[in-house]
Amino acid sequence: ATPTAVMVATGKGASQGVLIKGGDALEKAHKVKIVFFDKTGTLTIGKPAVVSAVLFSNISMDEFCDMTIATEANSEHPIAKAVVEHANKLCKTFREQKEHHTEVKDFEVHAGAGVSGKVRERTILVGNRRLMSVSNVSLGPEVEAYISENEQNARTCVIVAIDGRVAGAFAVTDPVKPEAARVVSFLRKMNISSVMVTGDNLATATAIAKEVGIQKVFAETDPLGKADKIKELQLKGMAVAMVGDGINDSPALVASDVGMAIGAGTDVAIEAADVVLIKSNLEDVITAIDLSRKTMFRIR
Ligand code: ADP
Ligand code: MG
Repeated sequence: ATPTAVMVATGKGASQGVLIKGGDALEKAHKVKIVFFDKTGTLTIGKPAVVSAVLFSNISMDEFCDMTIATEANSEHPIAKAVVEHANKLCKTFREQKEHHTEVKDFEVHAGAGVSGKVRERTILVGNRRLMSVSNVSLGPEVEAYISENEQNARTCVIVAIDGRVAGAFAVTDPVKPEAARVVSFLRKMNISSVMVTGDNLATATAIAKEVGIQKVFAETDPLGKADKIKELQLKGMAVAMVGDGINDSPALVASDVGMAIGAGTDVAIEAADVVLIKSNLEDVITAIDLSRKTMFRIR
């Protein structure tokens, strides 16, 4: 495309809320054959909420929630915020009556798995199945049943273990964006396939993928793993776009031929991307590819 055509298209994109950083991305987008979508905050709204809390030991709900809050309050993860908000409601009076706030010591973040620390000299772990398994916490049939029931219904479980035993768990839901399924189906009509990449577990990810009509899922993938999956396809000669919102997505946004960041996403993702979808609407993935096709094929 001529510099003028690129300038015109970039301006047109900007007026529609699709910020294209430079001609390179604009010229590459029409070649895209596969779009990788991050799950949380990209395909889903990204505002998780707790739908249930259960106890699996004889701890009181007050104690359980109080200790969970002390730990999760230190995490930036959206799931942690949902857990804290819900747990706060469950032990409000208990916390108000206490003279001192419960504090966590030795707080640690386990990326893509959860958090841990010491509360009142007791070890606490809050996170997913993987965190429990690497910490040698066995789940048992009752806990397994609760987790798989929720995962099949597209919910993510947060397990809380105290002193090496499961104390209780929370089920968290994060609804898919209303336009997600429509966008996936429209991309298919454009001969572009959609793939999901996420740090979340396979069962939950698969349930969400099904809701939006995505058949290929890469679950339990860490940030570099997301980028690796993209590089594998590029080696086969395919042009890949990545759509994401999190710090976790930045290596993949950089590795992809066209990285697209959700406008409401983190600064790190926006920085790493070639295209910013200002309205945070997934329809604009199509707007961007369409703009590129029209520019490259000189269609008006
Ligand atoms: P995503 O790709 O879904 O944004 P992350 O890599 O951030 O995933 O996290 C993967 C999984 O790790 C989450 O789905 C959740 O199960 C677990 N996890 C991470 N941080 C926390 C936390 N602070 N509290 C509970 N669970 C967590
Ligand atoms: Mg995300």
